[in-house]
Amino acid sequence: FHFAAPVNEPVYSYAPGSPERVALKKQLAAFKAQEADIPMYIGGKEVRTGKTQELRPPHEIKHKLGQFHTGDATHINDAITAALQARAQWADTPWEQRAGIFLKAAELIATKYRYHLNAATMLGQSKNAYQAEIDSACELIDFLRFNVHYLSEIYNQQPYSPQGIHNRLEYRPLEGFVLAVTPFNFTAIAGNLPTSAALCGNVVVWKPADTQVYAANVIMKVLIEAGLPAGVINLIYTDGPLLGDVAFSHPDFAGIHFTGSTAVFQQMWKTIGTNISKYKTYPRIVGETGGKDFVLAHKSADVDVTAIALARGAFEYQGQKCSAASRAYLPSNIADAVKAKLVAELATMKMGTTEDFSNFINAVIDERSFNKITNYIENAKKDPKAKIIAGGTYSKAEGYFIAPTVIEVTDPHYVTMCEEIFGPVLTIYTYDAEKFEEIIATVDSTSSYALTGSIIAQDRYAIDLATKKLVNSAGNFYINDKPTGAVVGQQPFGGARASGTNDKAGSMLNLYRWLSARTIKETL
Ligand code: GLU
Repeated sequence: FHFAAPVNEPVYSYAPGSPERVALKKQLAAFKAQEADIPMYIGGKEVRTGKTQELRPPHEIKHKLGQFHTGDATHINDAITAALQARAQWADTPWEQRAGIFLKAAELIATKYRYHLNAATMLGQSKNAYQAEIDSACELIDFLRFNVHYLSEIYNQQPYSPQGIHNRLEYRPLEGFVLAVTPFNFTAIAGNLPTSAALCGNVVVWKPADTQVYAANVIMKVLIEAGLPAGVINLIYTDGPLLGDVAFSHPDFAGIHFTGSTAVFQQMWKTIGTNISKYKTYPRIVGETGGKDFVLAHKSADVDVTAIALARGAFEYQGQKCSAASRAYLPSNIADAVKAKLVAELATMKMGTTEDFSNFINAVIDERSFNKITNYIENAKKDPKAKIIAGGTYSKAEGYFIAPTVIEVTDPHYVTMCEEIFGPVLTIYTYDAEKFEEIIATVDSTSSYALTGSIIAQDRYAIDLATKKLVNSAGNFYINDKPTGAVVGQQPFGGARASGTNDKAGSMLNLYRWLSARTIKETL
């Protein structure tokens, strides 16, 4: 069974008057008209504990979307037990059958639940319709389909058998359970981390971010409707450190698939290290963590291309992407023109609720993020080394709104050039246009992260030089484009250094981590 490479799911435009806009608006209204009561899913059963947390749209905090039930150590253990009970049968299920379930899930999202998932992402995570469409519809569908394709390629990779001998590789799942801990910022990532491991035959305990529960619940329902057997993926809502304590001290812990902060990932790794002698097998540790992603323009750069790469790269989804452009290096010959174009561009971006489709900028995810981001802005206002040239305003009266903010600095090591902010804040440094090699060295050494980065230039020599010298500075490197928006099947995504283990999501490199192969030699 070979599953050929699929094509990427087409992106709907949601143009005014289009049928998809009408349908999506209807779904938004339906979700807002009723309060959801969201259970955990353990061993195929809905679990309601009565200990709940409220869900509110980040852009409309006075509206209650619903609530979700949370669990404690007992529920974590129940989820692990349910996963382990499902393991033998799932691992022995013919892989075509496993693949069929995830392909069905992709089809259900494409044809039946597209608007549900997009509306849930818009309301729960404050994405505009277009950002929701490319994330919770297209990217998730692509992950599901492309992973089947890549796994089919892996299964077909077999060793050489000389005459008289039959050699084969049997790609078994890991011996134990996989923990998937997923972020708020991409519904597609939340869906991909548990399903990619499960597709390979693993059983999973999945804990999404509290701020992504509304859409996670829709994904789980789709998987169940697609035929996912009970216990293969168990969705729980619980305290992160508690989950770490329980799951990482379990002898059957076999792997973690994580996207989130560097600090949390490092803490997990330490805990796993402390417990290493308890495990039956060396656990796979796969994580995508922070970023401090750069846009480096050369003196030959096109002004418009640079300004648009910055406007979109830094501010789409309020800059809440690990890949978001957050530090820009502009050459002195075009810096003023780029800044003017960028500021003009930002002035056209309306801010407000997601339900009004003319808004491009929505709220940041929660109050903690709001406080962290605005703190950077306030400090910049007070600092003579920094100047705010766009935005700088914010309010949390109705929702967590922060205007797209551009800070200009005279020190390339100013704090907002170095630290991950995870919000709509871009910092710009202007360098002497004749000192390109020096600025390349600065770009490389300024941050401990290495997720994404862009070089904007028309001069081929400059492009080649930056590509060569910045070899370790970004796992995803873009030439004359923004550093965001990797497409599954086209730009496998992941970073190195403090940005993660670089096991490119949506590629064979990632799937290999969820397989433990057995070599079988048969003498004929
Ligand atoms: N894959 C996304 C992109 O290329 C970013 C994912 C993330 O923020 O973790 O923009």
